[in-house]
Amino acid sequence: VVSDGYTKLDAGAIHGLVPRVMWEPIVGPENIDSEHRMKLALNCAVIRTGGATVLVDTGMGDKHGPQVRERQFPGDYGYLLAGLARIGLAPADITHVVNTHLHADHCGWNTVRRDADLKPTFPRARYVCAASEYDDATHPNERTRGTYFAENFTPLAQAGVLELVSGEHTVVAGVTFIPAPGHTAGHGVVALTSGGETALFTGDLAHSATQFERLAWLPAFDVLPMVSIETKRVLTARAVAERALIVSVHNPFPGAGRLVERDGRRVFVAE
Ligand SMILES: [Zn+2]
Repeated sequence: VVSDGYTKLDAGAIHGLVPRVMWEPIVGPENIDSEHRMKLALNCAVIRTGGATVLVDTGMGDKHGPQVRERQFPGDYGYLLAGLARIGLAPADITHVVNTHLHADHCGWNTVRRDADLKPTFPRARYVCAASEYDDATHPNERTRGTYFAENFTPLAQAGVLELVSGEHTVVAGVTFIPAPGHTAGHGVVALTSGGETALFTGDLAHSATQFERLAWLPAFDVLPMVSIETKRVLTARAVAERALIVSVHNPFPGAGRLVERDGRRVFVAE
């Protein structure tokens, strides 16, 4: 897991319909800033298998002006390439980039600005995301417009490096993109299987440990909340049954843990 840093979003929006009196003791009032925002980590995953080096999600990136950095997505981010360098990876080493979805906090490093142009950051990579997500991202509406930044994905189509997939899709052996609709219609998670073990990179299936534990706790950001509940029902059951390592984008770095059943309740145990 490599971090791009963190952003801060409105804590009430992160908790959706759940009243503040219920979530605040769990989050901890000390973790809410003076503008009622809380930190969300920006965890990305690197998978090395065979000859492939797969990067899953790319954080916020470094292209943003003050409006985004100070108001819309405040925080401290832009560290993904430095994190990759620390584990010996240059942009040209990445063979595949997978985006769980195309919200601004998941695909920011897909592209970089070079002079007046926008270029794929990872020059040798194929970029994989759901075709329906790309459709929605390139045709945003009043509700979704604020988080789809075309600069993060349309240059990929222009460069001919975008691979738009439908349904379940094997990226490379052992790395599978699985549709997980709810947060967006085209949202997906990435399952890693190796030696009988499973890891799930969960994108925005949940924004916190509690949202893994409780099906009905959803962020206000989900565009299809009832679908989110059904998707979480299926994927959390799989996570429990397979004792899967969950890698969450927004849980504190590295965002990893397992969902275990204790006294009839599910508990997210960080690792
Ligand atoms: Zn997100």
